[in-house]
Amino acid sequence: MEVNCEGCAGCCMDWRSLLEKSGSAPRGDGAGETDRRHRRRDDPFAGDGSERPPRDPLDDDATFVPLTRDEVRGFLEAGMGEALTPRFWEARGEDDGVAVDGHTLAAVAGRPAFFVGLRKPPKPVAPFGLAEPVWLPACVFLDPTTLQCRIHGGERFPDECGAYPEHNLALDAAAECERVEAAFGGERLLDADHDGSEGLLLGSQAIGAKLFCHPRPADLEGIVDRAAAGSLTRADRTELVAIAAASSPGTLAISGQHYERARERMLDDADGGAGPENDGEAPSWVGPAIRDWRRRFRDADGTVPSPAVADAVETDRGAPETPGWDGLE
Ligand code: SF4
Repeated sequence: MEVNCEGCAGCCMDWRSLLEKSGSAPRGDGAGETDRRHRRRDDPFAGDGSERPPRDPLDDDATFVPLTRDEVRGFLEAGMGEALTPRFWEARGEDDGVAVDGHTLAAVAGRPAFFVGLRKPPKPVAPFGLAEPVWLPACVFLDPTTLQCRIHGGERFPDECGAYPEHNLALDAAAECERVEAAFGGERLLDADHDGSEGLLLGSQAIGAKLFCHPRPADLEGIVDRAAAGSLTRADRTELVAIAAASSPGTLAISGQHYERARERMLDDADGGAGPENDGEAPSWVGPAIRDWRRRFRDADGTVPSPAVADAVETDRGAPETPGWDGLE
């Protein structure tokens, strides 16, 4: 498989609003189907290609990156818990899930199921050859100036990002590259040959490893409403991230000790504390940068700054630089 990512990063941001502005839609997609197909397909509740309809996520992130339990723990230990956010799904019917806050949530054994992925604050970006930048929800780790990943190839680089779009192709679903080609032209997916579905966590093997289950649905009251409204609080994210970090692959068990440790790490991050891996180092740039992006977007009043403002928002706070495309193969 070979892809052409320069000037794209379509799988690291939610660019559907550009389609609405241009009035175009990816080839072959009806309006109602666009959102649904515009998703990574290793989502255990996204539908199985049969006549049963897919379950829809409560949130509106078209390019959500699901993390494994060990990756969640790794981000926490690195002091970057603020990068994380959960995803729930609507059940297919009332007898197919658990009712919380007026939603019937997809569940496993009566426990609401969720993913943990990466947050997307608004950033000024100019992908796909756009002449002017626009505000788009973009992965916390995306450098808006180069449109490259700040953690690419590093210890924290998510497996899912390394396997994408191979996983979509293995599941016979469209890749983000093809959607970008259809909407903006150019050649993104240069060679669609792939090695199959190795590494995909689907079905029961995902439980506790990538698909987490909350043991106390009543504790989710209020959280579910805010997840659907896109207004999760730090305390909300802390509860879900702690359950994910305390999960055990292949089981529904939750470790009380890991749960408490994860909560402490999340609260340390929020206080600007440094994780053990950062011992003696500056606190993580992640939380302050997300808050700064949200504040700048709120105060922008329709204007869009240059992506270079990321130097002040991210790099000056300690975000790793990206190499740019010159000289890269
Ligand atoms: S971690 Fe990197 S590759 Fe993955 S979505 Fe974020 S910016 Fe993109």
